[in-house]
Amino acid sequence: MPRLPQSPAEKGKKPVLVSACLLGRSCRYDQGHNHDRALERELDARGERAVPFCPEEEGGLGTPRPPAWIESGDAQAVLDGQTRMVTEEGADVTEGFLAGARGALACCSENGISKAYLKERSPSCGVAATCVGGSPVHGPGVTARFLARAGIEVSGVEGRRR
Ligand code: SF4
Repeated sequence: MPRLPQSPAEKGKKPVLVSACLLGRSCRYDQGHNHDRALERELDARGERAVPFCPEEEGGLGTPRPPAWIESGDAQAVLDGQTRMVTEEGADVTEGFLAGARGALACCSENGISKAYLKERSPSCGVAATCVGGSPVHGPGVTARFLARAGIEVSGVEGRRR
């Protein structure tokens, strides 16, 4: 992904990666979003500029798409090739999730980003909570784990605040 152009108002702001659904993009699996206006105000107050990114769209999984989760274990096990990402019908979508994680890190590198705000409870973006075997569990999603492992500071955001 090329470095994103900046408007005059954005010049001097620190770029941060943000889950695109938190910024109102309808990229959730069900074509919804998690627009979080409070997050946008917080970023502005901190002098941060949001670079929107959706790992699952980047990974070619499409929108809408079937719900998916870590089959068993945790996100680290997915990154280590020890478990899979599967849809609710059991289709293997591991490569799409890994491609999304790699794309997120590439976006950080290309835009000089060292911090990410990611949507909690997503199998990709969750930071403190994700989804394993169809149930919510503590622990990161695949992209959050991949970014953290590479030294990006990741913060979880619940979303949908006014
Ligand atoms: S939580 Fe992450 S992967 Fe899911 S829709 Fe939002 S940006 Fe995309």
